Amino acid sequence: MEELLCIGCGAKIQSENKEAAGYTPRSSVEKATESDSDLYCQRCFRLRHYNDIVDVHISDDEFLTLLHEVGDSQALVVNVVDIFDLNGSVIPGLSRFVSGNDVLLVGNKKDILPKSVKDSKVTQWLRERAHEEGLRPVDVLLTSAQNHYAIKELIERIEELRAGRDVYVVGVTNVGKSTLINAVISEITGDKNVITTSRFPGTTLDKIEIPLDDGSYIFDTPGIIHRHQMAHYLSAKDLKYVSPKKEIKPKTYQLNPEQTLFLGGLARFDFIKGDKQGFTAYFDNNLDLRRTKLAGADDFYDKHQGDLLVPPHAKDLAEFPALVRHEFTVTDKIDIVYSGLGWIRVKASSSQPVKVAAWAPDGVGVVIRKALI
Ligand code: GDP
Repeated sequence: MEELLCIGCGAKIQSENKEAAGYTPRSSVEKATESDSDLYCQRCFRLRHYNDIVDVHISDDEFLTLLHEVGDSQALVVNVVDIFDLNGSVIPGLSRFVSGNDVLLVGNKKDILPKSVKDSKVTQWLRERAHEEGLRPVDVLLTSAQNHYAIKELIERIEELRAGRDVYVVGVTNVGKSTLINAVISEITGDKNVITTSRFPGTTLDKIEIPLDDGSYIFDTPGIIHRHQMAHYLSAKDLKYVSPKKEIKPKTYQLNPEQTLFLGGLARFDFIKGDKQGFTAYFDNNLDLRRTKLAGADDFYDKHQGDLLVPPHAKDLAEFPALVRHEFTVTDKIDIVYSGLGWIRVKASSSQPVKVAAWAPDGVGVVIRKALI
């Protein structure tokens, strides 16, 4: 069969892998071939008709090539991260690849954090984490792509900072980059179909160009799935289920030592040693937290993962990694963060230390940070 290419992005048309470049449902391929009309891949089709950007997953190698391209350009780099999963949002080595270019750091999904958290505290925390990664962002902004919060400010700031240069938007999968870019487009165009006309064959398949008035472009680069993200291990349905869509409501659990909290079947928290006290859990309201005795917790998990302890559901258990235990002796007010899932606040002091263990699927990060709230 003759090789078909998308006339929008030049990708090879295929109907096997929805997540890869060039995906087009078989029926659309047949229709276009029969009527001898132009063929767009699903991504370009949706872009043309709905101004809707769909993410394509690419391999780490392709991603690195793209990052090199960013380093070789004179551009403003907009790095979008998920405030709720900062650990899972980090692009390893980004600081090396951006070389001399300015970076604007955008913390998205602000709507999820409890309103009591001050913006300044969050931006400061993002800045510190960026510094730890060797990034020196010229500015840090907080947005909610979903609620169109601070989109105007973002556009204004990009205009100021880019000073006539192109803009590269980078971020790992699931941080909300597509939603954010769609929000930016609809803010700029008032929902008019402007990108459609400016997509020509020959544009590389791995990025989307959004033209700006002065002949520069915003380049939307595809995201990679980060191995430390919960997203890597969950079905799309379960991921949706445990990803917060709105402000999370903290829940405090009074625990005795030697008690365990299961976070669905996804993770676990053991209170090993210390005085009876409250632990505050920040997870999506859907996630079922269940208390058991520490002594019987292993057996309870083996017996009930997939029925009482869900997600993951029984049919997905084979794919789900074993939980790995991380032990901490806490002497401060800290958050234990389960990457991509949420966190538990532990209040301790040097005179009243607390010993806990956090269990997460093998590969998913568990980190400790100064309490955010
Ligand atoms: P991408 O992979 O980075 O392009 O991310 P998407 O734009 O596809 O978004 C990933 C998930 O996060 C989707 O379920 C979105 O609905 C959700 N999302 C995106 N932006 C926001 C936001 O500002 N707040 C919240 N609560 N969810 C968001």
